[in-house]
Amino acid sequence: LHGEAERLMRLETQYGATNYAPLPVFIASGKGSKVHDVNGKEYYDFLSAYSALNQGHCHPRIVDALVEQAQRLTLTSRAFHNNVLGEFEEYACHYFGYERVLPMNTGVEGGETAVKLARRWAYDVKGVPDDSARVVFAAGNFWGRTLAAVSSSTDPESRGGFGPFMPAFDVIPYDDPEALERKLASDPNVAAFMVEPIQGEAGVVVPRDGYMRRVRDICSRYRVLLIADEVQTGLGRTGKLLCCDHENVRPDILVLGKALSGGMYPVSAVLCDSEVMLNIKPGQHGSTYGGNPLGCRVAMAALQVLRDEQLAERAAVLGERFRRALREMQRESRGWITNVRGRGLLNAISISSAQRPGADAHQLCVRLMENGMLCKPTHGDRIRFAPPLVMTDAEMDECLDILRTTLQSF
Ligand code: PLP
Repeated sequence: LHGEAERLMRLETQYGATNYAPLPVFIASGKGSKVHDVNGKEYYDFLSAYSALNQGHCHPRIVDALVEQAQRLTLTSRAFHNNVLGEFEEYACHYFGYERVLPMNTGVEGGETAVKLARRWAYDVKGVPDDSARVVFAAGNFWGRTLAAVSSSTDPESRGGFGPFMPAFDVIPYDDPEALERKLASDPNVAAFMVEPIQGEAGVVVPRDGYMRRVRDICSRYRVLLIADEVQTGLGRTGKLLCCDHENVRPDILVLGKALSGGMYPVSAVLCDSEVMLNIKPGQHGSTYGGNPLGCRVAMAALQVLRDEQLAERAAVLGERFRRALREMQRESRGWITNVRGRGLLNAISISSAQRPGADAHQLCVRLMENGMLCKPTHGDRIRFAPPLVMTDAEMDECLDILRTTLQSF
């Protein structure tokens, strides 16, 4: 590190918390698929802030929406009405095909909201005895790091040392409809099954074809709500508006976040029909910033951009090309790349460091960074590739060259 980057690193090291271990790059500006660091070096962003930047960095239409609204009204709290919330609610409900929406700020709050809605529905509608409602999750899930979220986690890193945990959460294997059926058949008090249609943080774990369809059927048969956590997979990322759309599945509760605001401002939302939504009454749930006019305007602009620029379709086409190229690189890697997987522009590889000592996922990401491509390893041996969906064909060609050259340099 040198210059400004060195100074900034010193500040973070001295004053910051130690809950993240970022790559040593200090980004100062971004546009579309690219960012620049404080020393002026250019990079392609292949993480997109964990898929929050599907619309690309600083999309002009979303920036305009933010700036325009910021000059009028930013926050009223929900103690009063404002002149934007209702418009956003109508827009989001029509866009996703649900009767109602509850806006929050972050993805994890969306997950918390979904679980609360499911519990209330279980007591008020399904008739589960008080304080007995259970919620089922899939092993490998990630929906944030609040106490409820880590209570359902199977990742020792996010969970270890933070107990005691939320009661009445059950974990079953992912991509295993039989395990879900056994669980629901054995327990009449299950309120909901919360699941990601592709597990992002687990390292882009793609279930077998038909998984979500079967999950949908089982949940319906046992009168259990299906909560789809599409915070990472939603909004064009996998080549459809929602990842559930690949199997024509409509979840009972849909959780969205991240790209709902195109990386501009924290906005999350939970969508469902009245039968589920209307059990929560005034005073029982909320957030000071949830549904604020600034976030609502930004989210509407972000959704318009997705549709107008046909970003889901772009993700499908670019993703096919990207995976085809990755598979070729896998063949050339002689066993180093053990696996290529993904859907749309949510892709990942696994590499075997046993094959080449000193060439683990972290090392590969560091060298990619030096060569102008920013990726982040997960779980030691996996690297996710999730560029903004606005990436052009020419940019993708350039990225594939960087990737090929970097892989060959080990
Ligand atoms: N759900 C999924 C599937 C996620 O990937 C994430 C974040 O990575 C979350 C929820 C939590 O979102 P946030 O970090 O905005 O709270």
